[in-house]
Amino acid sequence: MFMGDGMSLPTLAAARTLLGQRAGRPGEETQLSFEAFPTVGLAKTYCVNSQTADSSCSATALLCGVKSNAFTLGLTAAVPRRDCAASQVPAARLDSVAAWALAAGRDAGVVTTTRVTHASPAGIYARAAERNWETDADVLADGVDVDACPDIAHQLVHLAPGNQFKVILGGGRREFLNITSVDDEGTPGKRTDGRNLIEEWQADKARRNVTYQYAWNHEQLLQANATLPEYLLGLFESDHLRYNLETDHTTEPTLAELTEVAIRMLSRNEKGFFLFVEGGRIDHAHHDNQVHLALDETIELSAAVARALQLLDEKDSLIVVTADHTHVMAFNGYSTRGADVLGPSNMRDSAGVPFMTLSYTNGPGRRPDVDGRRPDVTLEEGFRSPRWRTHVDVPLASETHGSDDVPVFAWGVHHEMFSGLYEQSHVPHRMAYAGCFGGGPQACDAAAAPSALVMPLVMALLALLRALA
Ligand SMILES: [Zn+2]
Repeated sequence: MFMGDGMSLPTLAAARTLLGQRAGRPGEETQLSFEAFPTVGLAKTYCVNSQTADSSCSATALLCGVKSNAFTLGLTAAVPRRDCAASQVPAARLDSVAAWALAAGRDAGVVTTTRVTHASPAGIYARAAERNWETDADVLADGVDVDACPDIAHQLVHLAPGNQFKVILGGGRREFLNITSVDDEGTPGKRTDGRNLIEEWQADKARRNVTYQYAWNHEQLLQANATLPEYLLGLFESDHLRYNLETDHTTEPTLAELTEVAIRMLSRNEKGFFLFVEGGRIDHAHHDNQVHLALDETIELSAAVARALQLLDEKDSLIVVTADHTHVMAFNGYSTRGADVLGPSNMRDSAGVPFMTLSYTNGPGRRPDVDGRRPDVTLEEGFRSPRWRTHVDVPLASETHGSDDVPVFAWGVHHEMFSGLYEQSHVPHRMAYAGCFGGGPQACDAAAAPSALVMPLVMALLALLRALA
């Protein structure tokens, strides 16, 4: 499963246009890798107590198959936000699609451009009444007993299913280290329990007598790709990975590279695997109204999917590409074909002032009117640079998610099951059905359909024998 965090339909349309324009074409006709998939559906993203999803209730829906309360992870809606006691009730605790896969003898892993303890990746291994409980300090700050409700980083390293993942790649070293210690790039940790969870992850693997590697830079990742240890933990930044447009690729891996290593690690299991890959920073750029970064991160997710397509076989693989929720970016303005998607519309507003082809309903990019007119943002310093904020209608510190449906693209075995419009929480059940694992019905059972023909014959024979007796 590939997930673009906040990858709305306007984001896709704008990203594909930018991709084409980078290649010198008009752009609108371009396809992102997964836009060529044979099946497309739509999923409804609302959560149990919220019209608009946050990334944790939507991760719970997408990865555990149950709708829940906003800001909670891996728990049913019986658990209110930050209610530690309620989160420990066994009936409220959910298993993820990765746990279902592991129970069926498959392998599992996670790749993200965010901290590996962030809401979306945490959805496949954590159960937390608060998505922000990434370290013990976060749990304690809410007045909660960290022994009763261990933090998300601790869960990843020490609890199932996280401690069984063959591959964990992303950012977030600070969540694993104490505030008094620094990581390999000199940044201090955030923990207050004195623990070094990176060392504890390695000690756990050593105790199990398996081969393992911890990587924190590009060179070490390439090394792991060559040697393929049984277990791989890669944490490439203290916080989230840097934006693709701003990072140094001689030292930092791309999402496509991370995806390739993960697939090669997991493909060794003859029974198969479940891998979750997140392009997590589309969302962060949208929240800051930095549209160029959001589109570029979307193009990076497309490149990661393209890499997966090279490595997997359509006959025995299923790739699902979706988003957890949308954003409020609009792609608008009647511009001519091929107009710069990152530039101003060919139109002007009713006062004759330019406006951008891509803008937002809300966020930090609000400019006050000058003399009763909108200011001309195209005259601003830094206009059109990656960190330049486009204009918005409603001032907010952070742009909000949208409440509209997200696309679901599917390729491979049983891809056709993903057409139609359905609840987001159906997605993992459909994947498990197609992949023949999990507690529900499975495609492989249906393949044994002849029994459905034989049974009526047996019943008829029994009835005949009874009649003769
Ligand atoms: Zn968000």
